[in-house]
Amino acid sequence: MTGIEFNERDFEYDVYTLVKAFYPREELRIFYEGEAEKEAEKKLCQTLLQVLYQEGKASLFIYQAGQCSVSDAIALDCVDRKTAKNRLKQMVYRNLAKLTGRELPWGDLTGIRPTKIAMGLIESGMSNAEAADFMRKNYYTSNEKTALAITIANRERALLAPVDYENGYSLYIGIPFCPSICLYCSFSSYPLERWKDRVDEYLDALFMELDFISETMKNRRLDTIYIGGGTPTTLTPEQTERLLTHIERRFPLEQVKEFTIEAGRPDSITREKLETVHRYPVTRISVNPQTMNQRTLDLIGRKHSVEDIREAFALARATGFDNINMDLIVGLPGETKDDVSCTLKEVEKLAPDSLTVHSLAVKRAARLNMFKEQYQEMTFENNQEIMDMVQECARNMGMGPYYLYRQKNMTGNLENVGYARVDKAGIYNILIMEERQTIIAAGAGASTKLVFDRGRRIERVENVKDVTHYITRIDEMIERKRMGIATYLQEGEFR
Ligand code: SF4
Repeated sequence: MTGIEFNERDFEYDVYTLVKAFYPREELRIFYEGEAEKEAEKKLCQTLLQVLYQEGKASLFIYQAGQCSVSDAIALDCVDRKTAKNRLKQMVYRNLAKLTGRELPWGDLTGIRPTKIAMGLIESGMSNAEAADFMRKNYYTSNEKTALAITIANRERALLAPVDYENGYSLYIGIPFCPSICLYCSFSSYPLERWKDRVDEYLDALFMELDFISETMKNRRLDTIYIGGGTPTTLTPEQTERLLTHIERRFPLEQVKEFTIEAGRPDSITREKLETVHRYPVTRISVNPQTMNQRTLDLIGRKHSVEDIREAFALARATGFDNINMDLIVGLPGETKDDVSCTLKEVEKLAPDSLTVHSLAVKRAARLNMFKEQYQEMTFENNQEIMDMVQECARNMGMGPYYLYRQKNMTGNLENVGYARVDKAGIYNILIMEERQTIIAAGAGASTKLVFDRGRRIERVENVKDVTHYITRIDEMIERKRMGIATYLQEGEFR
């Protein structure tokens, strides 16, 4: 067990996530000075970090087996909170890197949007070389990750250049049902089998929310629409038709630059559904295998075969979709480098237009976390070599990286990267990750993100996750939105 002791409640989360990145598999506990009842527990820590704030400085002591092996300090007086946080993280990083003999690919960056930093530096007038130098010196990012962040920031800037994102908005619509629940899932998702009799009621509530959004946002331009979930293609062809007709009636689709539907699970895709979707101006769909290894598909609870993935993809192409994304996850339980290589070969044969590669992140609410004892023997392998293989595969398919984000508890402490062919990148993905545009979200568990003052302030309006609550409390969901959006529109007028 590793512990961190603070004498004040300040920057604990930042230090915690950084220490966790160095010791991903260890239990990590936080203590506060003066907690006499936790003294015994503290003594059980093989490594104990002590962060002490006093007289305008922060000191760091690291004890191993009771012996102090590190002692360091930095000045924090006369600096703003952001600078104080950065200095503290630098000190912790430098000392842990020395102590463990390990550097982390993303250095001391623990937030989820490293490209936002790169983009900010470039927009402040720095050249690519200056921005890279700044990142390496201030955040200790590796050469490879710095180059990746700068490349993506430039690509994002080019992709967003024709979009007047500050004056428009994007719409997210959540369909929270899935054919079965995956082992690692932490989204708002409910098994269709149990909920199928209530899907129409859900759509009725959703339409009320969409009507409110279309009326309230009618003077703003709608740039992108994303229907996600869950798995939107769990809807029957009739329900899909109902949903798309409703959207078409209420929103000005002729001005929308991108309209994505996640066709996610191959076991939810049929010819009829794809044909229904294709009759509407949907520009991009996603068929998500996650892995092309049957053993893993079975283990993670996806009740379909590898052949189903191939068939669903071929069907989507035959229906006429010319922008198909595929999602993969690396670091799945029991998967080795060879398994990932096998998946990549299969994906290359299918030749999607974009590829989104996630590093497995085990969140608290996932079954994989809740029943972790069951999976103790399994390896969760992800490393730079595997990420390089993925990059190589994307390059072979003519794709370049265009968006990137990180999550907490990712295997290998790496990143999620979206690759796309020219003109096939998902603009919505960039807008949401870089927090450049307001995203109004409808549906159970959907989270509206209101972007104020060019991204300097973000406010969220959350819907309840539970489907029954969403249906029965739809008026309340709309009221919450009404209040949030009113402030947003009002501030916009005085910009
Ligand atoms: S398909 Fe996605 S949303 Fe559905 S259960 Fe699996 S991880 Fe969750």
